Amino acid sequence: MMHCDIEAPWRAAARAALREEHFDVLVIGGGINGAGIARDAALRGLRVALVEQGDFASGTSSRSSKLIHGGLRYLQQGDLRLVLEATRERERLRRLAPHLVRPMRFVLPIYRGGPVGRWTLKAGLLLYDLLAGIRNVQRHAMLSAAAARTAEPTLRSDGLVGAGEYWDCWTNDARLVVETLLSATQAGAVALSYARVSGFLTDRGRIVGARLADTFGSPEIDVRARVVVNAAGPWVDEVCALDAPAPPRLRLTKGAHVVVPRARVGNRAAWVLHARRDGRVMFVIPWGEQTLIGTTDTDHVGGASTPPTVEPDDVAYLLETVNYYCPSAELTPGDVVGAYAGLRPLVAPESAGGAPSSLSREEDLFVSPAGLVSIAGGKLTTYRVIAAAVVDRVVRVLRDGGDPRPIGPSPTARLPLPGGTADPQRLSMQALSRDGHGMAGPALDHLAGRYGERLGEVLAAVDEDPSLRTPLLPPFPDPRAEVAMAVDREWAVTLEDVLVRRTQLGLLDAQATTAVAEDVARLMGARLGWSELATRAAAQAYVEAVERNRRGWG
Ligand code: FAD
Repeated sequence: MMHCDIEAPWRAAARAALREEHFDVLVIGGGINGAGIARDAALRGLRVALVEQGDFASGTSSRSSKLIHGGLRYLQQGDLRLVLEATRERERLRRLAPHLVRPMRFVLPIYRGGPVGRWTLKAGLLLYDLLAGIRNVQRHAMLSAAAARTAEPTLRSDGLVGAGEYWDCWTNDARLVVETLLSATQAGAVALSYARVSGFLTDRGRIVGARLADTFGSPEIDVRARVVVNAAGPWVDEVCALDAPAPPRLRLTKGAHVVVPRARVGNRAAWVLHARRDGRVMFVIPWGEQTLIGTTDTDHVGGASTPPTVEPDDVAYLLETVNYYCPSAELTPGDVVGAYAGLRPLVAPESAGGAPSSLSREEDLFVSPAGLVSIAGGKLTTYRVIAAAVVDRVVRVLRDGGDPRPIGPSPTARLPLPGGTADPQRLSMQALSRDGHGMAGPALDHLAGRYGERLGEVLAAVDEDPSLRTPLLPPFPDPRAEVAMAVDREWAVTLEDVLVRRTQLGLLDAQATTAVAEDVARLMGARLGWSELATRAAAQAYVEAVERNRRGWG
């Protein structure tokens, strides 16, 4: 980890608040669940702190398939409750964050003798629409073989007898976390990244806070809080172990994704395919000029602190299926331009048998005898309802401890995320009608789609410094202003924070980003007060990390 010679002002302020104040709630983990809990609690008027051992969203929450979906395959598993909750939540998130949660068309091809028959699929899609209720994105359609070929000309035509077409949503997982946290801090929460909980503070057997170790070498801090919430995702068991020895609750499985140029696959919609090796469902998702392919689902050995890596066999598993269903793609590992793997924190002990993909995606909320409230499992899609349930539990613990304050129910079902108060298309058109602040339509569409109502903040930055209008890494539209936004307003302190999570250039074309590492380091260094040496070291560290990642599977 690179050491900054000067601490960013927001970090110093957060550290001071963590040291001095007594919080109602301390949340451990800055993934989607932790961010959702911090936001919910802060909006109910509680004094909240959140700490994250790495960058916000650096755990599972930036390594998902990025779908906000009902989960068609959970229907197959008979999990109607999960699908009902998830489809309803999908529709709600579309309204609360239209810039981050966007409709996407899915095509599930049907092949003669294949794993899904036409009538089963039709019944499944009908039920899927019904569960979504009247606010459904768009209703499904069944396509004939000819219509399927017209819709997706590069799909294997041998044995193709038709397709099911349905709609779900696509998001930017890491930015969903950042916006949720922005809302939390606007409501008064204190958030600090690169700060790891290394132990608990106790008083007469009750947890009353936690000890924080700072990754950048600042002294340890004792944070005092009435309730501590463990939202550590794949690390939930490890955090529980800091409290008291307990049998593991999670079975960690790894999911790998790869990114290839979309021109090679030619998919117009997202495809739902069955993996050649084991029949599991996987997705082939259009992502601008690229295609995202995922995921695998295999047991992960070594616990949460062993980082999940993309292995040659993961790449082979994904590419062999795409090459079969899209014979013209002829993808080889050399075509992969980006790859990432994440850990699913699935609720089931290590001893649980069965294929990883058969395990439940439901969450588990539990409180230890010392009062540690833990949340494990869940999905990105349902994070808002999970957060509300956790905060309800926190409120009960506070009441049991004699807290007399009136604390209301969760208000998040109706409150948009910070960028979510306006239609992104309208925002982009408005900006264009005012000369686009020197930027072209596609760049404005990209920015409005990413920042929503916060587009104004980006435009203010480019007005102040016109050099920020230039795209960072053509042909991707992301202007250099996004580096400024990430550092000034979104807590980014390393190149990876900027390139992999605030923008996703490091996922879309990892190798290409190494060419702009120095430019990004200079932009960041100028804002964070880095020395020449630290700036060069930061660029170097990023390039080495990309190369290490590529060597894993390449
Ligand atoms: P995390 O995001 O991992 O956050 C936990 C955080 O806690 C981490 O950032 C970690 O650094 C931090 N932490 C751990 N220990 C400490 C400590 N001691 N001190 C401080 N911080 C600590 N869901 C969907 O809805 N749609 C999808 O398309 C989808 N696809 C997926 C694909 C894959 C491959 C995977 C793995 C999951 C997918 N999911 C999907 C599920 C979803 O991504 C997860 O359920 C969700 O991101 C979990 O969020 P979390 O906050 O619990 O965990």
